[in-house]
Amino acid sequence: MNPTMAVNDQVTDAAPGMEVDPAVYKTLLESTLAIPWKIDWATMRFAYIGPQIEPLLGWSQDSWLSVDDWASRIHPDDRDHVVNFCVSQSVAGKDHEADYRALTKDDGYVWIRDVVHVVRGDDGEVDSLVGFMFDISERKRIEHELMKMQKKLEALSFEDGLTGTSNRRHYDERLQAEWKAAQTGQHPLSLILLDIDHFKDYNDFYGHIQGDECLVRIAGALKEIGIRSRDIVARYGGEEFVLLLPETSEAAAAVLAERCRAAIEGLHIRHERSSCSAFVTASVGVGTVIPPFESDALHFCDAVDKLLYAAKQAGRNQVRSTFSA
Ligand code: GH3
Ligand code: MG
Ligand code: MG
Repeated sequence: MNPTMAVNDQVTDAAPGMEVDPAVYKTLLESTLAIPWKIDWATMRFAYIGPQIEPLLGWSQDSWLSVDDWASRIHPDDRDHVVNFCVSQSVAGKDHEADYRALTKDDGYVWIRDVVHVVRGDDGEVDSLVGFMFDISERKRIEHELMKMQKKLEALSFEDGLTGTSNRRHYDERLQAEWKAAQTGQHPLSLILLDIDHFKDYNDFYGHIQGDECLVRIAGALKEIGIRSRDIVARYGGEEFVLLLPETSEAAAAVLAERCRAAIEGLHIRHERSSCSAFVTASVGVGTVIPPFESDALHFCDAVDKLLYAAKQAGRNQVRSTFSA
C-alpha cells in the first residue's frame, strides 16, 4: 500500500468526527492574548484583525484597513527597518518575526512581536500573510531593567568602593589600552603616581575611620585635576593614587603633578605626626613616554615608581619628574 495514501485515508476517515464549527475557531482566536490578523497579498488590505487590538492599542478593529495603517502605527524610529524587513521577507516568501513599538491612540506605544506566516496558493504564489501580534512590553521592560543593572554592575566593578575613583582593575585595563593607542599614534602618555606621606602614623594617631575620610577627600581633589575624558584617576593601592593622562606632554604632566601635590596639602587636613608638614601631604612621581614599538608598560611604570621613591627620599611632600623646565 502507498503509505501516503494510508495517511490520507486516515485523515479522511477521521475528518468527519473532527469537524469543528468555524465559529469555535473564531472564538478561540479572539480569546487568546495574541492578536490574530490576515492581510490579502494582492490588495495589501487587512482581511481580518482580532478585536483584542482595540483594548491593547486603542485603535478600533475596523480602523485597520491596509498595510499603510499598520506601517503608520509603528514608532517612527522602528518604522523603516521593520517595514522594509517584513516586505522583503514576504516577497521572498519567508516566514518571519519582527519586534517593534506599536503606537497607541493616546500617543503612547506598546512593544509588539509580530510573527508572520506567508500563505501560498496552489500555484505557489503568495496569497496572503497571516500572523499573531504578541504584547511583549513586560519582557522588554525586564530586558531594559537587566541592561541597566548590568551597566551599573559593570561601572561598580571598575570603581573603588571607598573613594569612587577607578580601581586598580580599571586602571590596569586602561593602561594597556592607552599604551597601545600611544604606541600606534606615537603620542606621549603621562603617568602621575602619588603616595600619602606618613599615612600609617596618621591612622595610628587619628584612627582608621578618619584615615578613610582623608582618602576620600584626597580622591575628590585628584578627580578635579584629571578631568579630560580619557584621563583616569585610580586608587592604585591602600594610600596610593595614580593619574593616567593620555596625549599629555611632559611639561603639562609636570604642571598637573605639582597641582596634585598642592591640592592635597591645600586640603589642610591636620597631621600632628608628620615630619614634613602640619598637614597631610603626598609625594609624587611623574613620567612621560612615547611608547617605543614592541615595548610594554612595565618598564615605564617602574621608572615612575622610582621617581616617587626619590621624592620620598628627598624629604616627601614634593614632585620628582624627568622634566626640567
Ligand atoms: P610613607 O611616607 O613612607 O609613605 O609612609 P606611610 O606610613 O604612608 O607608608 P606605609 O606604606 O608604611 O603605610 C601606608 C599606610 O596606609 C598603612 C595603612 O595603615 C594605611 N592604609 C592603607 N590603606 C588604607 C585604607 O584603605 N584606609 C586607611 N584608613 N588606611 C589605609
Ligand atoms: Mg604606600
Ligand atoms: Mg605612604
